[in-house]
Amino acid sequence: METIYRQRMATLNGESQKMLSVALKEARKGLEEGGLPIGAAIFDRSGRLIGAGHNRRVQNGDPSLHGETDAFRNAGRQRSYRDLIMVTTLAPCWYCSGLVRQFGFGMVIVGESRNFQGGIDWLRSLGIQVMDLDSEECISMMSNFIEEHPELWKEDIGAV
Ligand SMILES: [Zn+2]
Repeated sequence: METIYRQRMATLNGESQKMLSVALKEARKGLEEGGLPIGAAIFDRSGRLIGAGHNRRVQNGDPSLHGETDAFRNAGRQRSYRDLIMVTTLAPCWYCSGLVRQFGFGMVIVGESRNFQGGIDWLRSLGIQVMDLDSEECISMMSNFIEEHPELWKEDIGAV
């Protein structure tokens, strides 16, 4: 039992790192465009990519374009979100946590929650599985950005 559990966890961990790398690529795209380095991607349980996107609030002048909402829109209409996984480089804010709750995503994978905790405790309390990968790459990319652009960050989380 123990071995099977460990193998499952190792597989899931490997898969989740692969999924996170897609969100990370999106985050870097955002940074190159002069925006916030936050990316997201939606996968099904077999690891198939359904949609990806990144925060484009600065680029598009649209405050509703967070990484998660961009990925969500790019994924198009889905019959059900229960078996889909929202993967994001940073813990989802209240707005995006609301999206996860509203559409019934079964699982969320976050790159990190050190720079921002967002709504992950709330999502867990609702029974949604939240896996925090505590990725060094995600942590440093975000903390560097916050240090260099505190005003853009505060505006992003509505803390101005
Ligand atoms: Zn958000």
